[in-house]
Amino acid sequence: MSENVLDDLLRKNGLKVTKGRKEVLKLMEEKKDLPMKAEQVYDLIPRSVCASLSTVYRILNQLSEKGLLKSMLYQNGIMYYQYDSGEHRHYIVCSKCGKVAALENCPMDAFDNYIRKDTGFDITGHIFELTGICPDCKEHAESRE
Ligand SMILES: [Zn+2]
Ligand SMILES: [Zn+2]
Repeated sequence: MSENVLDDLLRKNGLKVTKGRKEVLKLMEEKKDLPMKAEQVYDLIPRSVCASLSTVYRILNQLSEKGLLKSMLYQNGIMYYQYDSGEHRHYIVCSKCGKVAALENCPMDAFDNYIRKDTGFDITGHIFELTGICPDCKEHAESRE
C-alpha cells in the first residue's frame, strides 16, 4: 500500500495522518494474513515512530474503531488485531504461548450445507474458535519429561 493510499484511508475515516498511524496501518496491511497482539506490533514498529506500547495500543484501538482493523478477543483473553480485508479466515490459537496460525480452508462449509438441509435456513455467517497447543510448545513439554 503506497503512502498516498494510506493517507487517504486515514483521512477518509476521519483520522489525522500521523507517522504512527501510518506505520501501524502499513504494517497491519502487510501482515494481513495473521492477527497480531499489540506487543508484536510494538516490536515491529521503529521506536522513532512509536516510543511506547501504550501509543501502539491507542493507535490499534483507533484504527479498530474506524473499522480499518478487526480486533478479536481470543479465548486466552488476549486481544488480537488484524487488517480488515473482508476475507473469510479461521485461526487456531496456542493456549500456551498465544501463537496464531491460519487455516487453509473453512472447515465449516460442509457443516453449513448440513444445517441448511436440516433447518431450511440459509447460513449467512459463522464464528468459530479453535484453541490448541502449537508444535513448539508441544516439543517443549515433551523434552521436559
Ligand atoms: Zn505455543
Ligand atoms: Zn468459515
